[in-house]
Amino acid sequence: MSYVEFSTISKHFGNSVAVADLDLQIEQGEFFSLLGPSGCGKSTTLRMLAGFVKPTTGTIHVNGRDVTALPPEARDIGIVFQNYAIFPHMTVFDNIAFGLVERKLPRGEIKQKVDAALAEVGMTGFEGRYERELSGGQKQRVALARVLVIEPEILLLDEPLSALDKKMREEMKFWIKNIQRSVGITTIYVTHDQSEALTMSDRIAVMDQGRVLQIGTPVEIYEQP
Ligand code: ADP
Ligand code: ADP
Repeated sequence: MSYVEFSTISKHFGNSVAVADLDLQIEQGEFFSLLGPSGCGKSTTLRMLAGFVKPTTGTIHVNGRDVTALPPEARDIGIVFQNYAIFPHMTVFDNIAFGLVERKLPRGEIKQKVDAALAEVGMTGFEGRYERELSGGQKQRVALARVLVIEPEILLLDEPLSALDKKMREEMKFWIKNIQRSVGITTIYVTHDQSEALTMSDRIAVMDQGRVLQIGTPVEIYEQP
């Protein structure tokens, strides 16, 4: 059994079909991308795994557990969106600590975990800064640290580079890939950008109009017409 299994998952909005009979198997530790044009169903697929959107048909299993009917907070999933919503009135430290404080961890443990997360994303020394004092790439790294510090089973990244300029995008690609590799976390990455998917992924599902057209490694995807 694969780590994440979508079995005949579909999502209808009224009469329109956003996702149609999707079958996907994603392995533990894999960096898996959903690639396709805007409106093809990538975000809806991700949101169904996160529990924000209820599938019309089908089931989703994570690590052998049926999560189809579970609310988002009962799933062990971290998600980063393109608009890195970090809290502007909180320092970088407090942003990253947020989920740990909510979980009522002891203060010493929080400090230890936040320091480790800061180091992981190369932001040691920035703990006292506020959002307005950070570049787009730095904000995105804080958003990533805030999710990773919770140690979720799965990391979902929805177009995380779209709001960044080209230079910053290249830099973030490197950061995301390195962090993912060192943490070894199963990651699903949504993008419309073929070169992002090809350079970062272990495997790619190419989607169009709610369906998967092709699944393969970057080499397989690149070499097929
Ligand atoms: P992508 O992430 O690939 O851009 P989405 O999953 O956001 O695609 O959207 C797939 C399709 O479903 C689109 O046609 C979109 O307009 C539609 N859609 C997404 N969310 C909703 C919603 N809440 N209500 C109605 N239609 C939606
Ligand atoms: P994304 O950039 O992730 O594709 P969208 O801009 O398509 O997101 O959608 C933003 C929000 O609007 C989402 O919550 C989505 O479910 C909703 N949405 C998208 N398309 C429609 C639609 N046609 N009708 C109603 N809601 C929609």
